[in-house]
Amino acid sequence: HSQASSCSGCGVQLQSGKPELPGFLPEAAMGRDPVICQRCFRIRNYNEASSVAVDQDDFLRLLGSIGSTDSLVVHIVDLYDFEGSLISGLQRFVGNNPVLLVVNKIDLLPKAMNVNRLRNWVQKQAKAEGLRTVDVVLCSAKRNMGFEHVIDALEQYRNGRDVYVVGATNVGKSTLINRLIRDYSDMERELTTSRYPGTTLDAVHIPLEDGKAIIDTPGIVYATRMTEIVPRSFLGSLLPDKPIKPLVYQLNAGQTLFIGSLVRFDFVEGDRQSFTFYISNALNMHRTKLERADELYADHRGQLLGGPSLEELESIPAWTRHSLRVKRGVNKDVFISGLGWIQVNGTSGALIDVYAPKGVKVMLRDSMI
Ligand code: GDP
Repeated sequence: HSQASSCSGCGVQLQSGKPELPGFLPEAAMGRDPVICQRCFRIRNYNEASSVAVDQDDFLRLLGSIGSTDSLVVHIVDLYDFEGSLISGLQRFVGNNPVLLVVNKIDLLPKAMNVNRLRNWVQKQAKAEGLRTVDVVLCSAKRNMGFEHVIDALEQYRNGRDVYVVGATNVGKSTLINRLIRDYSDMERELTTSRYPGTTLDAVHIPLEDGKAIIDTPGIVYATRMTEIVPRSFLGSLLPDKPIKPLVYQLNAGQTLFIGSLVRFDFVEGDRQSFTFYISNALNMHRTKLERADELYADHRGQLLGGPSLEELESIPAWTRHSLRVKRGVNKDVFISGLGWIQVNGTSGALIDVYAPKGVKVMLRDSMI
């Protein structure tokens, strides 16, 4: 029995180690004939898109090939990890093609959110990142919220063109595409594939009624997101599944909050004030005195402080410190990519130190909520 090394569907190199990377072939399917990767298998047999990921260089090559098409580019981002999942520089690669920004996972935000305010916030942030969008649509692909707006916007901006869907990993791109396959595509026609120029990876074309197609691209991996840094076994605790219940802490300067064993939040300087944590409610919170924090972490990380476990922590980079000064007057979020954010009320100003695994994007931004 011969050992095939590439997928006869998309030509990508086969591997049986990592389901989230291209070319994954489960051990049990090794004997299949012809040998195709799990992604091709699912698409062919279940009409179901599944997530694959590529690194930055491959992704930029794929994006570059979109620039020479005449298409609508749908950029899907995760509202919960907005700055972490926005593809900076997208504008440069898409050429003159219009970009529709679809903001997913709005189901995670507290129910009482003002959607118009949120849309304005998204538009402002996207503009500041240099991204010009024809429109911004908010939805939840998983909970089927606002999906009619996604379809309306596709109809409005497509003008008989193909649609390229781009996004980072874990933003819900597959979930969204599967919904489009059900609600928008023309499944009387065959799914087709074609190669991205200059790569071994195939694009899946989901047919539309007018002969055009929705084209799924692999997700881009950004190492600056906590979700890419923790082991997969911990991802379930990090990614909230239900609306987040914000946690409000009244802190005095000189107090520390541990978010599991993943992040340390020091309130270094400022008047007594409240901090609102928008993070997965599956994470353990522990308050202590700043002067005790080093010792507490050394003795209790991965245990009393909560996950990740000691074993999981071994594969996570050591902390670096980010010193952030919130000025009096404006409400700011301390944004920690892939984890969530902490809202700081701007009434009196604060000096904050955040310790997070090296490489994770930590920054101040204007408050979302
Ligand atoms: P992809 O990597 O971008 O293709 O993302 P997936 O579609 O595989 O989704 C990644 C994770 O996000 C999965 O755990 C999904 O269940 C979850 N997810 C996708 N869409 C939503 C959504 O609208 N809301 C919430 N809360 N989770 C979602």
